[in-house]
Amino acid sequence: MTARLIDGRARAARLRSEIAQEVAALAAATGTVPGLAVILLGEDPASSVYVAAKIRATEAAGMHSVAHRLPAETSEAELLALIDRLNADPSVHGILVQLPLPPQISRSRVLEAVAPEKDVDGFHPVNAGRLASGGEGIVPCTPMGCLMLIEEELGDLRGKTALVIGCSPIVGRPMAQLLLRRDCTLLVAHRHTGDLPALLRQADIVIAAAGAPELVSGAWLKPGATVIDVGITRLPGPDGTTRLVGDVDFASAAEVAGAITPVPGGVGPMTIACLLANTLTACRRLEGLPAPAQRAA
Ligand code: NAD
Repeated sequence: MTARLIDGRARAARLRSEIAQEVAALAAATGTVPGLAVILLGEDPASSVYVAAKIRATEAAGMHSVAHRLPAETSEAELLALIDRLNADPSVHGILVQLPLPPQISRSRVLEAVAPEKDVDGFHPVNAGRLASGGEGIVPCTPMGCLMLIEEELGDLRGKTALVIGCSPIVGRPMAQLLLRRDCTLLVAHRHTGDLPALLRQADIVIAAAGAPELVSGAWLKPGATVIDVGITRLPGPDGTTRLVGDVDFASAAEVAGAITPVPGGVGPMTIACLLANTLTACRRLEGLPAPAQRAA
């Protein structure tokens, strides 16, 4: 392996510790403790693990968190009524509705019901619009974490060619907007893109967020590229075990890239750390407190 390994766990640990210090200072100065409400419908095992991890991380940072675990049969009206109550609750600064939702519930109606200033996932159309128009909103956690890793690696991104593979509203699209805001030259690929290797050959920065295991081969990369692998797919391994793989063929890519994130241990830990950053930002804005100068998130 010739590429530098981008250690998302270490970067996320640093960010979490900075946030914990800011939370402690905020509580000491104002008595305000940032509060996050997480809503989970049903018993989906992966969602339950994600929610538990988010609650643990919030509490470890000194924030207050409440999990609302509702049955899978909960009606849309009941869920919207809970969101209304949380929107009006001054001790709650962030509201997160864990996806996916059961089929009887409209994802867009639910995401739009969350007050934009408490939308710590950054999925509300108001926040998506602010990101697209250059305004100050709340940025989705995974792309925010990717940008932090890229900037730590490369510094100023102006004029660099960045390829985002995948354009979902959760990862690819906001990632593209963030890179445009950093004055990158932007390429975006999706499932209908014809010649992915031709785009990869031009890209100084690659963000792979397609959910297509080992889609990107090292042979297609521009030598020295910075590669951020967002994809996570669990594949069957030997003897009934399973293994997690990303959207990049790590072994071949690590021989060509300048720097690369592993899966797991790259982007995933940054997503949760950025959720904490967004909750603290939402709290400061709702309470009318200034942002600390030293941290951009
Ligand atoms: P999605 O299914 O909503 O969107 C996938 C996007 O990739 C679409 O735009 C699609 O057109 C594109 N795509 C699919 N196959 C492609 C191909 N062969 N070539 C080019 N483009 C292709 O998925 P999502 O929610 O954006 O998530 C993408 C991946 O990122 C998944 O593996 C998901 O598990 C992972 N993810 C990881 C984190 C994290 O914290 N690490 C967070 C969110 C999502």
